[in-house]
Amino acid sequence: MLYLKGVELENFKSFKGEVTIPLVRGFTAITGPNGSGKSNIGDAIQFVLGTKSNKNIRADNVRDLIFNGGGGGNPARYCKVTLVFSNDVGEGGQRRMSVDSDEVRFIRHVRLTKSGNSVSAYKLNDEDSSRNHFRLLLAEANASADGYNIVLQGDVTNLAKMTPRNRR
Ligand code: ATP
Ligand code: MG
Repeated sequence: MLYLKGVELENFKSFKGEVTIPLVRGFTAITGPNGSGKSNIGDAIQFVLGTKSNKNIRADNVRDLIFNGGGGGNPARYCKVTLVFSNDVGEGGQRRMSVDSDEVRFIRHVRLTKSGNSVSAYKLNDEDSSRNHFRLLLAEANASADGYNIVLQGDVTNLAKMTPRNRR
């Protein structure tokens, strides 16, 4: 059974330092006041899954993804997000993703160079990986960043308010 067990954030948007968000199997709701970072967690997930457009994760450039110091503090120079998926052997005796481990960790790391450019790195478990390898494995598991498996804030309201023509 494949499911997202947890998200580990490091200097991602409003999350300073390291923060782990455990997701229990079944249903997990994230609640909190306006501006407390709920949507940033969704952005972190899409950041690793590899969304086609940075607009979807509310970023004009990579700098927007890195903790900015939160007004007065020191801005970070990098951010890192880890998605931890379970990948147990299922009833058919097979794993959903073709990685030989019960747990698969997708790690994306972005850092700013001295000249202000950004460098992205990908790791799968503890091995160097690539954007392409992520895409292949995630496609196998039908986990896309831009599919209907992700329903963003306002999506449901928009669907309800659309004209029948637009909805089609
Ligand atoms: P709402 O209930 O209004 O939808 P939310 O819980 O979804 O709120 P988010 O949109 O996740 O809130 O978080 C917004 C907060 O994240 C803002 O306070 C914003 O300043 C902060 N934020 C966004 N990017 C960064 C960054 N790079 N560094 C520090 N803070 C950031
Ligand atoms: Mg929100």
